[in-house]
Amino acid sequence: MKVLLTCEHARNSFPPDMENIFKGKQRLLQSHRGWDEGALEMARGLKRKLKAPLLEGSHSRLVIDLNRSINHRKAFSEITKRLPQETKDKIISTIHRPFRENARVIVEKQSQVLHLSIHSFVPILDGKKRNCEIGILYDPRRPLETNVAKQLKLSFQANDPNVIIKMNYPYRGTSDGHTTQLRRTFSPKKYLGIELEFNQAWLKKLKNKNRVIEWIADSIQNSLL
Ligand SMILES: [Zn+2]
Repeated sequence: MKVLLTCEHARNSFPPDMENIFKGKQRLLQSHRGWDEGALEMARGLKRKLKAPLLEGSHSRLVIDLNRSINHRKAFSEITKRLPQETKDKIISTIHRPFRENARVIVEKQSQVLHLSIHSFVPILDGKKRNCEIGILYDPRRPLETNVAKQLKLSFQANDPNVIIKMNYPYRGTSDGHTTQLRRTFSPKKYLGIELEFNQAWLKKLKNKNRVIEWIADSIQNSLL
């Protein structure tokens, strides 16, 4: 089984020709609504250890959210949703479509792929503390995917029993997203789509990030069919 890594919310930048639209939006761009802080570092570390391809989102999700379908009401943000259709079409054809298409082509060429979509989440949302360090998101209706997700949890815990790991938390693996779309395209045997969500507070306080990336990569390798 081959591994494909993606990082949809890797960056909080925007295309140079959108400077006017994003004027004065620095704070929003810096926040969790702009990007997944720490996710790209984790994704790149895993790419190195696993020698797997990694697709990185090129711009902020405030331009377009690569983890939403183009017809989802939140694909475009409050900043971009009222732009002229022509501009939105350009954003779709230059940012969203190529990213999704690259992933689809990589999966298509292999007999079996474990797609790991790497994200991070804020430790407190709407005043509520999220008591979890790593979330594993998957579709419980897909048996192979479920097996690998459970195996990943066991393997993570074996490496560090103190890490709190939750399944389908802080979001459900079946909500609209990149993995959800690819599940519709490929059979459960060919395509296994799992989102790994890392708590940003946990990522920040890690003393030896490289060592943690190493045991996460080892766990992934041990969970491959
Ligand atoms: Zn994300």
